[in-house]
Amino acid sequence: MSVSKQNRRQTLPFAYQINRFISKYPDLKYNGSGIYCLMCRRRLVGWNAINCRQHVLSARHKQSRKMHMPYWTFVYDFIFMLSVCDIPQNMLDNSHFRAFWQKYVPNWALPTRKQVCTEFPHVKEVVENQIRCELRDKKLWVTVEIVDVKKDKVGNVLVRILEENYSSKPFLIASQRLKQLDADTIHYVVIGALMKFSVHPKNVLMFVTDESEHMLAAGAKLKSTCPNLLHIICILHVLHHITESIRTSYPDIDKLIISMKRIFVKSAKLTQQFQKICPKIPEPPQPLLASWEAWLKAAFYYNGYFDVVKAAMIQFTPKQSRYIKGCQQLFKDPRVEADLKMIHENYGFLVDAIEILQEASLSLTESMDMAENVYSTLSHLENVPGMVAAEKFSDILWGNPDYEKLRAINECLKEDRLNSDLQRYYSHANITCMDVERSLASYNAIFTSTKTCLSESAAEGVLMMQLYAKHNKRAFTWKK
Ligand SMILES: [Zn+2]
Repeated sequence: MSVSKQNRRQTLPFAYQINRFISKYPDLKYNGSGIYCLMCRRRLVGWNAINCRQHVLSARHKQSRKMHMPYWTFVYDFIFMLSVCDIPQNMLDNSHFRAFWQKYVPNWALPTRKQVCTEFPHVKEVVENQIRCELRDKKLWVTVEIVDVKKDKVGNVLVRILEENYSSKPFLIASQRLKQLDADTIHYVVIGALMKFSVHPKNVLMFVTDESEHMLAAGAKLKSTCPNLLHIICILHVLHHITESIRTSYPDIDKLIISMKRIFVKSAKLTQQFQKICPKIPEPPQPLLASWEAWLKAAFYYNGYFDVVKAAMIQFTPKQSRYIKGCQQLFKDPRVEADLKMIHENYGFLVDAIEILQEASLSLTESMDMAENVYSTLSHLENVPGMVAAEKFSDILWGNPDYEKLRAINECLKEDRLNSDLQRYYSHANITCMDVERSLASYNAIFTSTKTCLSESAAEGVLMMQLYAKHNKRAFTWKK
């Protein structure tokens, strides 16, 4: 078939078909306009599975593999190692580094930065091929995480294989700057990534996201492409909103936690003074504003050590920090003490629930039971903040597009009476996506000043390799 004819036929299902058979041959890649051999460094004449097989078995290919393999394996492993260890490529321009290498590793010529840049896409393709092989014919769970990188929004598409007996580790299959943060763009990025990795839409069973409008709309769009998809709102995101609502219900407690943090975060001297007055208790917590769980824990701390911390704070003088006076007043206010007690009594279970749900290896039954326990405990609270929190929880939980369906599947799993073959794949399906997000926490690090030269595609490759290596200890050795 001629290439021009082929170009006209380049629909996504065609790329899907090629990638499917090509994934058996790690030396070959499909670059959109032809099949290319990484060892022979040339394009194959034919287009089908037989051509690929013939080429890989040919004497010429075997010869180029023999000639190139040792050095190219080294270069590929080297690039992989740089990416996984987060070593900037501009290290290769450093004359001291090159001199050291030449002296101690003379048998392996250190590639230049330009060579590394040229070869990087091939290494990325090899990793993509390995991921493609792993995902082949598997049932999948998908999430999209939106990250702020400088002024841009970047969408990371992550998948897990739905296994019947355990929760599998995530793979990153796309990381792209979003032109706009809307449902169409998210849908486009997810579908593009699934196509690229030859995932059949009917194999995508779960989509877990936050509850933002664009994610809800993107989920609805995805369902029209992926007929078996259930869209679930991450339960940890829901709990985040609950804690936020508790926090806004207790402004004085929030003020106390923030002022105490400000007093001690800036002054080692005041911290030492505090330790001297009360040597037996931990230092006042300094929760990050983004961490809802830490805010609750801080409130529990002030409840537990109320009298000791109050006595210590009264010994400080307002001259030492401008927040001291306010704190002293708050500690003297009986409502503050009562509220702290109330928060501890009513919401202690939330911190435990959050910690348990963060454990990605839970079964579906375990995590759904936990979510429903949270709901039932909240709905029994009789104070106003508790009722507001319970209502909010119920709105999000039951407003969840497919929560009822997942609940029904969970009942079937519990009773061991499955209505369809697909249901068994949900036994360890995660209803949270936050651990996945945490696994990519280093995202901003690869955009540090020394690496701003990385293209979007290279940055995607680095992240893909980092996550792949994290879960595959043997990923370092290329298949020979
Ligand atoms: Zn070849």
